[in-house]
Amino acid sequence: EPGKYADLLDDLNPAQRAAVEHSGPPLLVVAGAGSGKTRVLTRRIAYLLAARDVHPGQIMAITFTNKAAAEMRERVGELVGRRANAMWVSTFHSMCVRLLRREAKTLEMSSNFSIYDADDSRRLITLVARDLDLDPKRYPARTLAAHISNLKNELLDAETAASKAANDFERRAAEVYGEYQRRLTQANAMDFDDLIMRTVELFQVFPDVAEHYRRRFRHVLVDEYQDTNHAQYTLVRELVGTKPTGSGVEPSELCVVGDADQSIYAFRGATIRNIEEFERDFPNARTILLEQNYRSTQTILSAANAVIARNPNRRDKRLWTSSGDGEKIVGYVADNEHDEAAFVAGEIDALADSGEAKYSDVAVFYRTNNQSRVFEEIFIRLGLPYRVVGGVRFYERREVRDALAYLRVLANPEDTVSLRRILNVPKRGIGDRAEAVVATHAERERLSFAAALRDAVAGKVPLLNPRSQRCIAGFVELMDGLHELVDSGTEVADVLEAVLERTGYRAELEESDDPQDASRLENLDELVTVAREFTEFADTVLEEQAEAEQEVDDAAGVPEPGSLPAFLERVSLVADADSIPSPDGEGGEEDSGVVTLMTVHTAKGLEYPVVFCTGWEDGIFPHMRALGEPAELAEERRLAYVAITRARKRLYVSRALVRSAWGQPMANPGSRFLDEVPAELVDWRRLAPSNGSGAGGGSPRAATTWGRRTGFGDDSAQAGVASRGMRTTSFKGWKDGWKDTVALKLDVGDRVSHDKYGLGTVVSTDGAGPRATATIDFGASGKVRLMLIGSVPMVKL
Ligand code: ATP
Ligand code: MG
Repeated sequence: EPGKYADLLDDLNPAQRAAVEHSGPPLLVVAGAGSGKTRVLTRRIAYLLAARDVHPGQIMAITFTNKAAAEMRERVGELVGRRANAMWVSTFHSMCVRLLRREAKTLEMSSNFSIYDADDSRRLITLVARDLDLDPKRYPARTLAAHISNLKNELLDAETAASKAANDFERRAAEVYGEYQRRLTQANAMDFDDLIMRTVELFQVFPDVAEHYRRRFRHVLVDEYQDTNHAQYTLVRELVGTKPTGSGVEPSELCVVGDADQSIYAFRGATIRNIEEFERDFPNARTILLEQNYRSTQTILSAANAVIARNPNRRDKRLWTSSGDGEKIVGYVADNEHDEAAFVAGEIDALADSGEAKYSDVAVFYRTNNQSRVFEEIFIRLGLPYRVVGGVRFYERREVRDALAYLRVLANPEDTVSLRRILNVPKRGIGDRAEAVVATHAERERLSFAAALRDAVAGKVPLLNPRSQRCIAGFVELMDGLHELVDSGTEVADVLEAVLERTGYRAELEESDDPQDASRLENLDELVTVAREFTEFADTVLEEQAEAEQEVDDAAGVPEPGSLPAFLERVSLVADADSIPSPDGEGGEEDSGVVTLMTVHTAKGLEYPVVFCTGWEDGIFPHMRALGEPAELAEERRLAYVAITRARKRLYVSRALVRSAWGQPMANPGSRFLDEVPAELVDWRRLAPSNGSGAGGGSPRAATTWGRRTGFGDDSAQAGVASRGMRTTSFKGWKDGWKDTVALKLDVGDRVSHDKYGLGTVVSTDGAGPRATATIDFGASGKVRLMLIGSVPMVKL
């Protein structure tokens, strides 16, 4: 009887309802932002259970936001209670980790493999390239890593890459790829791309395994389909199957939703081809279009439509809403980034005071992570509660990575990259030479690095001096002791405490006078807290999960909740898309929550009543790297479309006349995307001072004369630079206010000395003339990207 699940269909429009009720052939829902695509997915899952007798264990849903995942679990929970836990809801990467741990034996791996993130894999590639005697100038690790990642996203193995190589670089890169893969296997590790590629391999090489999962997952649903790459597309195909299998299993039902205008992961190989060719990929597929937007006001939609309409080669789709014009967009041109942050903070305060918005209604977006700092500073000063989203930054800190490396070695002793990272951290007398001698021994004897260390202790490594041998013995003994702790079932947080105590890591920081070390201690304490919470959380879900999993055929190979491998898995995937928060998840009626700060990439799929789009300047957003590149510019414009369409009621757009970016004050013209927003939609609170010619027209973008305040054209600085022997080039009259500016000519591999950062090596250069930049590795101070024009406090050595 329809009454039973009418409430699941009631508040859907006819097109949405059709998508929810559709059964049989593959289904694609394409539609612009805020048209209810994710709602369709969530509702469809509930409908499958309520109306079509589907079991939660038969559902595999791929989502990118915790919000959507939580909503799906909640809906399904309402319908079937705890059995909801048998449903798989995750990102592609988490799903693959889970499958691979279960099926590790089939692939002849052990199920405790490590997951290498981008930094780990770059380290390993650096080692490989060095061993292959590749010139790091011609073959920078970063470039090699990107190239190998692309190959993996295309599901090409090293041999195929070698046979397809069209030039010297590709040939050498294929060689690196092969050796890199060999060492990953030896280290019992996989990088992010492997997770997808190996799962595809699992299904393709072992048809019975594929069939097993096809029998299990009768329904596969994918959100944000525009951001899938070739490997992920193939994985989806393998998972559902396209024709009945030998034993008569019909393909599973597939439902994907997406929006080509929101494709923002081309740099990871994502391709909208997967949407455009869906009907070719999956014969007799059905496509449903949604056109009504339920999220934003007409003003916000019109702005979004106007910006995205400038992209070439897109299918025009006009979103409409019945919710009225709403407020005008508020524009603000700030003097500098501090002024911009102060404006944002002031507006948030005013909205909160007047009761128009709670803190949790507000999101502040920026293009790149480093832009968050200025907001954090002022929010702290004013006592505005906030949180920065993006687990990446915390987990990228050196001390956190060191501590995690210990845990990773304890979980997987073959993890060479982690092992070599901590070998002499804190310093224990195992120098680079000793490490190299052991590494050579490992290579020659085809041993893992861990095994070679044991050989060293046993005196079987030639050329190793006795002192190093003793130090290595001490290290091996230390690790053995920690291993015993893990084996005896000690909680992760306590293992971590033991690592920090027994290695002397904590003591060293405590004894230091450097204030940085104090904050390092705080971060390590924070990590211990994360581990504690992890265990507590695991205890509560353990019971429910065990019950749910019992109904599932196979629970083998999955790390036990709360265990060290489970913790590391969680941490590895946090750096991926998994950590996106639920905007209105916390904060009850009285609690007004916190303001959310994040990059636009992270905001995909989310919505907030009030959105601040900051840093809308050419060179910031669109990103400098996109300025001369039509394809990248189109991607930046899609990103702008994503940013605007997150807003429900109020949208703010701001930019700064002068901003310290990449270590230099820069005067950026306003973003071209600002010009594309129809003038009548914007209420400019403050304009650029020098030009009064009409609001939305040229003036928000107009360059002002500023010259001296930014330090450019400062004669004494120039003289100082020139007298230190640099080659200089002058760009006379390049732009208003750029008087005489000098540029430092640098090439990859050049050594430099910077007044603030110290000694460094150029790892890459980008852009030309006034836009020239170099990325420089300053060792302990990290990698910094610097403008090369103006009074650069740096000399080439
Ligand atoms: P995006 O492209 O940004 O991911 P989306 O297409 O997935 O957007 P949703 O997030 O599903 O859109 O929906 C946007 C908003 O509109 C949500 O708040 C959702 O609850 C609401 N919504 C969707 N469909 C309807 C409807 N038929 N009636 C009322 N509200 C709806
Ligand atoms: Mg969505």
